[in-house]
Amino acid sequence: MDTTNEGPAITHEPSSDFAREIEREPGGAGIMKCIQCGMCTASCMVASMTERYRPRKLIQKILLGKREEVLASELPWLCMSCKLCEERCQEDVDLSEIFTAVREIAAREGHIPPVYRQTVDKVLEDGWLLKDSYTDFEEDDRDDLGLHTDLNWNDKFVKKLRKKYFKGGKQ
Ligand code: SF4
Ligand code: SF4
Repeated sequence: MDTTNEGPAITHEPSSDFAREIEREPGGAGIMKCIQCGMCTASCMVASMTERYRPRKLIQKILLGKREEVLASELPWLCMSCKLCEERCQEDVDLSEIFTAVREIAAREGHIPPVYRQTVDKVLEDGWLLKDSYTDFEEDDRDDLGLHTDLNWNDKFVKKLRKKYFKGGKQ
């Protein structure tokens, strides 16, 4: 008798059209392996910070085919890709990759949460994200440590970034 755990991967049916769509998207393979044990939620630091975020539930919604709800939600964008859940998942489900696949589809269909758009706009405007929070105190600290204090990005860099990634974006 074969006592090893090797063998064909077990998948769990039934699954929805949306789950199959995610499965076909890069990173989405493996979603059908989820057995809804909840270890991911128990392991997740984001889930420990907010009750809104429950990776198991998010996977369940995909399996149940709640396409519009999941794509319009900001929850898949809260995953930090720390992969702690994946270390502990007994079915080897790559949750962070699955949520990346969800975000890819969501972005293609125009569902990018405003905070992420604002973040990109900020980088395109200033060349970096933290300009507003850069205070004289920090400048003094950097000076004391012998670090550069002039952190304004070269405008050319911002222009190159816009050209390469945001042709049709905000100018
Ligand atoms: S730990 Fe794995 S099997 Fe368990 S609910 Fe999360 S993704 Fe599904
Ligand atoms: S990879 Fe995402 S879902 Fe998994 S533990 Fe980290 S933040 Fe939570």
